[in-house]
Amino acid sequence: MDFQGHRELLQWYVELGVDETIGDVPVNRFQVPESAAQPPKPQEQAPRASGREAAQPARPDSTREPRRQAPQESRSASAKSGLQPDQVAEAEEAATAAAAAADDLDSLRLAMDAFEHCDLKQGAKQLVFSDGNPAARVMIVGEGPGQEEDIQGKPFVGRAGRLLDLMFAAIGLSRTAEAADESLYIANAVPWRPPRNRAPEKEELAIMRPFLVRHIELAKPEALILMGNVPCSALLGRTGITRMRGNWLQHQDIPVMPTFHPAYLLRNPAAKREAWVDLLRIRKRMAVDQ
Ligand code: URA
Repeated sequence: MDFQGHRELLQWYVELGVDETIGDVPVNRFQVPESAAQPPKPQEQAPRASGREAAQPARPDSTREPRRQAPQESRSASAKSGLQPDQVAEAEEAATAAAAAADDLDSLRLAMDAFEHCDLKQGAKQLVFSDGNPAARVMIVGEGPGQEEDIQGKPFVGRAGRLLDLMFAAIGLSRTAEAADESLYIANAVPWRPPRNRAPEKEELAIMRPFLVRHIELAKPEALILMGNVPCSALLGRTGITRMRGNWLQHQDIPVMPTFHPAYLLRNPAAKREAWVDLLRIRKRMAVDQ
């Protein structure tokens, strides 16, 4: 690791609360603690907030920045896609055909860029397809682009993305590395920024799912990391990140681990302890499978 890598790793430790040395003898922190194997009780995951936050307690499934809009634009009123079930089915069919016709990542990117059946495209500046090394052993799937990603055309380049980079740097993985076993490949459940930073609707996830599935097929990662509830819902058809996180599941014959979204960790630093356990499990599995 170079100077910058060490600096980022130290910064991640400080974020975790490791900001002083308390012993002369080194401890192997990379060993997965047995006691941490038990999923923590949900109430331990979501400590009660106070003041303004208490009115809107942070949940592991709410990863977006707060929306800046009138109260009457509530999720139930405005966030519905407005699509009829047959329109969703038709769009899914079109996505399935377009995704199947793509036989490499470049053609998949073009197919997604040309896809007109998802309304998210209308409000976004550009398609955010992926970043990192397509040959990486580990692929990360996030939720969807935010403002910064929409501008730059790359996933996870905002504040949450910087934390994501620090998290994975701590286990020796980086989106800029060239070697497959040191790099990351990053994509999102939806490739266009949802308006006003809302979470993608379930219809939007369903319509874009065939592209995500094909993206994974073409990238052929050895492990898939799902950041938060949205990609779990899109791919696995279920949510409940507090319970699912840290466990290896299986999807498309690939080991899949759900873990907390970095935006959730930014708002709930106490959950970084669980995120660290998840990272150690990823590191352990990738070392064993090498
Ligand atoms: N959050 C995500 O889930 N994906 C991004 O690309 C950025 C923020």
